[in-house]
Amino acid sequence: MDDLRTAVSSLENRSPLAQQDPLIFRALEDERRRQNRQIELMASENTVSPAVLEALGSVITNKSLEGYPGKRYHGGADFADVVEQAAIDRAKQLFNCAYANVQPHSGTQANQAVFLALLQPHDRVLSMSLAAGGHLSHGAAPSYSGRWFTAEGYGVARETGRLDYDAIEAQALAFRPKLLITGGSAYPRVIDFQRLRAIADKVGAYFLVDIAHIAGLVATGHHPSPLPIADVVTSTTTKTLRGPRAGLILTNREDLTRKLQASVFPGVQGGVHLPAVAGKAVALAEALKPAFRAYIGRVVANAHALAATLVARGITVISGGTDTHLILIDVSNRGLKGQQAQDLLYAANLTCNKNPVPFDSSNPAEWVGLRLGSPSGTSRGFGEATFAEIGHMVADLLDDGGRDPAVKARVLKRVEELCRASEPYPG
Ligand SMILES: *Cc1c(COP(=O)(O)O)cnc(C)c1O
Repeated sequence: MDDLRTAVSSLENRSPLAQQDPLIFRALEDERRRQNRQIELMASENTVSPAVLEALGSVITNKSLEGYPGKRYHGGADFADVVEQAAIDRAKQLFNCAYANVQPHSGTQANQAVFLALLQPHDRVLSMSLAAGGHLSHGAAPSYSGRWFTAEGYGVARETGRLDYDAIEAQALAFRPKLLITGGSAYPRVIDFQRLRAIADKVGAYFLVDIAHIAGLVATGHHPSPLPIADVVTSTTTKTLRGPRAGLILTNREDLTRKLQASVFPGVQGGVHLPAVAGKAVALAEALKPAFRAYIGRVVANAHALAATLVARGITVISGGTDTHLILIDVSNRGLKGQQAQDLLYAANLTCNKNPVPFDSSNPAEWVGLRLGSPSGTSRGFGEATFAEIGHMVADLLDDGGRDPAVKARVLKRVEELCRASEPYPG
């Protein structure tokens, strides 16, 4: 204990933040400890490397810059250009494409820039509905994309939980969208990009694929790539790509690149967030290494092991399993809502999020889904046996429903053991 106190106080002595702003220092330290001691099962989260963290916290944050490498509106851009050009080159290499814009501040702003490049206000957009696993920025009512554009959502077949391509085709023929979007945040299966491309062609629509969740799988060949097929591809660099919070726009269509450049800046953004671009460059280089391909292979195998355990325990897994890193379960046959299930897991230091399942209520309080994922646990080194064990912990907690304190205590103890042996940010 005394040792620990000495360690903390020596860190505090060295840290200007601790001296100057103890409230924020303490919250950041608490967050680091939380990440060490909780198993993160949120499908959208991951654990960046120390190198990415270092790039995110550098003095390049002081640099004001607009425009693109070699064509800046401000002086002093020499080193910023090195950073951004590296990020661009690495993104193009990783996704095997002709064009990359690495400036979007987020996945949402990447999509916003594509809307600005390809559409006029009130144009029609057809995208995966939120209930089927789609994303708010693809035309959902509360988002600008749903308010300024005319959007419809397509869904999955009730029996299979998989995209119903015949129904999407019929809907597209009736609705005649100018933009067809696919990709989502809670869809666990491989998406048939060829089939959707054919539908887009039939109605003369642009085809946008948002790979925010599956970028790491696409980059390593664990999910087919949309790049030879789509007009434009957007992504985040968080999630399976294991980079900073930021976005990307990719394409092979040379005729769209000028529009996309202008739509990011000055279309929807101002200055470049250089720390994020530096973090992206580092994460993209990591993703080009063979070790990252092996990592994503484990991510997929681990998600399989988790899904198979949940199925064996009688938990309803949407679509019966997963092809990716994420799993969507329906907890209603345990008499639970998603929020209750999320709280039960959280009390045992397993973090995840409630989610709608297909055909769920539109009221978040009534949702019966829980979304789970393997990227973060795999980053801490967990393998299939551990993910199967986590599946049993989840099933035990849901079966118990918070009635027997011994169940929670047993899971908590085991989570503590697993976490102590695999801290991502020790210190
Ligand atoms: C996470 C996500 C986004 C948005 O990312 P932000 O960086 O949070 O704006 C966009 N599209 C999909 C499919 C996502 O999963």
